[in-house]
Amino acid sequence: LLSGEILVDDVDTDVDGGIRPRRLADYVGQPVVREQMEVFIHAARARGEALDHTLIFGPPGLGKTTLAHIIANELGASLRQTSGPVLEKAGDLAALLTNLEPNDVLFVDEIHRLSPVVEEILYPAMEDFQLDIMIGEGPAARSIKLELPPFTLVGATTRAGLLTSPLRDRFGIVQRLEFYNTTDLTRIVTRAAGILGVIIESEGAEEIARRGRGTPRVANRLLRRVRDYAQVKADGVITSAVAARALDMLNVDRFGLDHMDRRLLLAVMERFDGGPVGVDSLAAAIGDERGTIEDVIEPYLIQQGFLTRTARGRVAGRRAWSHFGLTAPAAPLP
Ligand code: ADP
Repeated sequence: LLSGEILVDDVDTDVDGGIRPRRLADYVGQPVVREQMEVFIHAARARGEALDHTLIFGPPGLGKTTLAHIIANELGASLRQTSGPVLEKAGDLAALLTNLEPNDVLFVDEIHRLSPVVEEILYPAMEDFQLDIMIGEGPAARSIKLELPPFTLVGATTRAGLLTSPLRDRFGIVQRLEFYNTTDLTRIVTRAAGILGVIIESEGAEEIARRGRGTPRVANRLLRRVRDYAQVKADGVITSAVAARALDMLNVDRFGLDHMDRRLLLAVMERFDGGPVGVDSLAAAIGDERGTIEDVIEPYLIQQGFLTRTARGRVAGRRAWSHFGLTAPAAPLP
């Protein structure tokens, strides 16, 4: 393992129990992304070239890492994995790049968190497959140029807007992942249950999917907890009733909102009269970091109409008031 490299097996097998899909055909949902990637991968393979650099963005748990691995698999290439904050020195990135075989994939998770020096190295590497690196210090310092094999950089980030524009401009392919609908999440839960050897009825899978926050990672995590519940409190079979009871016990409500979601929405409604409230004030009020609110909590709430983002701050959506049985304050007098 190179310095700055992340062991792929960790991500792939141990934590996941083998439920991470490995082929594009098993990647559920995201029809637009799937169709486009199938064409681009096919074309690159047929030409014997590296696939264009690909940026994948979307909230956590929607399948960015999974897609990166699938891209490498479908290209018949190897994948090396690292992440923005792990690459501290220019040399870490240089070591990874010089160890790639032609047409390999370098996956950089959290690519918006690259340090500026590392990002500088990446520009010529992406553009011309060249490495410009300084060796030594002071008067003895000199710059050397190395040729790199053609490779594909796959970058992942929670929001495309976090990237500097020179970096963003160097990606030939940009894919945005969307939240999954209940039908697709049901397929994901059913597939994972099959691999884990869990007995589940289709209505049980649907109940978990409905409360899975549109997110495969969340749905798969709920599946594991519901399995525990079914084992201890029922006969091991996940029916819709067993799933509902287990999820109620886990404090996941019927729209999939969890404790953090409810705390945020209640703060907007009860402490800020429904908003608009700036994200920093909101972060202070609920004791969470601004980044957690922006990356993890609010994207789903916005997508579901519980929250809206305006120029003046966050505003509780109509759906939030009705969900909690609260009444929006009357419009302020002019
Ligand atoms: P991200 O990198 O966006 O945070 P991951 O790729 O790690 O998300 O996905 C989290 C988990 O969800 C994976 O382990 C995988 O099992 C599952 N998953 C993600 N996307 C899909 C998909 N399209 N089809 C089936 N399972 C998926």
